[in-house]
Amino acid sequence: MGNEKEYILDCLNSNWISSKGSYVTELEKIVLRGNSSRNSLVTSNGTVAIHLALAAMGIKSEDEVIVPNITFGATINAVMYTGAKPVIVDIDPYDWNMCRDSLRKAVTKKTKAIIPVALFGNPSGIKEIDDWAKEQELICIIDAAEAVGAKIEEKDIGSYADAVTYSYFGNKTVTTGEGGAVIFKSKSIAEKARILRDHGMSPNKRYRHDVVGFNYRMTNLQAAIGVAQYERLDQIIKFRKELVDRYKDRLSDLDVIFQTEHEDLSPSYWLFAAKFSSKDIKKIESELLKSEIEFRACFEPMHLQPAFDEAKVIGNQNTSLKIYKNILMLPTHNNLKLEDVDYICDKIRKSFK
Ligand SMILES: *Cc1c(COP(=O)(O)O)cnc(C)c1O
Repeated sequence: MGNEKEYILDCLNSNWISSKGSYVTELEKIVLRGNSSRNSLVTSNGTVAIHLALAAMGIKSEDEVIVPNITFGATINAVMYTGAKPVIVDIDPYDWNMCRDSLRKAVTKKTKAIIPVALFGNPSGIKEIDDWAKEQELICIIDAAEAVGAKIEEKDIGSYADAVTYSYFGNKTVTTGEGGAVIFKSKSIAEKARILRDHGMSPNKRYRHDVVGFNYRMTNLQAAIGVAQYERLDQIIKFRKELVDRYKDRLSDLDVIFQTEHEDLSPSYWLFAAKFSSKDIKKIESELLKSEIEFRACFEPMHLQPAFDEAKVIGNQNTSLKIYKNILMLPTHNNLKLEDVDYICDKIRKSFK
C-alpha cells in the first residue's frame, strides 16, 4: 500500500466523492505517462472504455470490427453494444496476439476498426497492426486492459493507435477497484467521448442532450486510489518482471513454451502464462490442485462462446484451438514472493517425473 488511504481520506474529508473532483483530473493527466499530446478520459471500467472509444469514433451497426479470438470476452461485448459485427481472427502461434496474416484476410468493405489486444500485457505485433491499419485507413483501438505501463520501442503503449483502452479492475496491474481509461489521439474525438460519457449532455448547456449518451464516469474516490497506484506502477512492473523471469528460469528446461518477447518491447507482465504439451498439462493441473496452488485455464476462444454466435469467424481458428487448452495462467500478483514462484515451479517439475 502506498498513498491510497491518505488520498481516500482526503476525498472524504473534503466531501468530493462523486465523479467531480481533483483526483479525476489528476488521474487523467497521469495515465498519459508524460505524453501530453494525447487526450485521456477515465471511465467506470475497462469494458465501457472500449465501447466509448468505438462510439466516439462513430462505429455503427452496419460496420465490422476485427477482434482476436483469444481475449477476455469484454473486448467483443463492447463491439456488440454498438451493433457492429465482430469479426474474429485467429492468434499468432508465438506471441498469442492477433494474427497479422489472418487480419489481412478479414478486411472487407464493411471493416471500420481493428481491436488488437495486448494479451497478458505483451504488446507484440501491435505496432505492426497499428501501422497497417493506418495504411488501410482503418481505425485501430488497442485493448490494453492488461497492458497498463507496457512500452513499444521505449514509448508508452498509450502513445499508439487512434485509441488505447485500459482496465483498472481489481486483478489488473493497477487498480481502482472498478475503473478504466481511454486515450485518444484526436482531441475532437476525445471531446465527443467526454460528452458521451456524461449522458450526452452539452458541455455548454446543462440538461441539453444533443446525443444519446451514457454514464461512464469514474468517481473521485476511485481516481484517488488510481493516483496512488500509478505512483507505484514502474515498481510494480519491475517486480512482475522479476516474477516472470524467475518462472522462466525455473521452467525453461522443461517441454514448455512462453509468449514471445521482442527486444524493442516492454510488456507489463500482467500475468505469467505458459504453454505445456497436451500430454503434460493434466498432470500439472492435478499437481497444482493437490498443492492448493491457484491457477487459471486460458480464456476460451471467442468463436466458441454462445454469446457471440452472430460473429463472423475467419478461417478455421486452428492456432487458437490448439493453444488455449495448453496454456496455464499461473499466480502473478504483487504479494507473491520469488520463493513462492520456486515452490510453484517445484510442483510443476514434480509432475514431469
Ligand atoms: C479486464 C479486461 C477487460 C475489461 O475490463 P473491466 O474493467 O473488467 O471492464 C477488457 N479486455 C481485456 C483484454 C481484459 O483483460
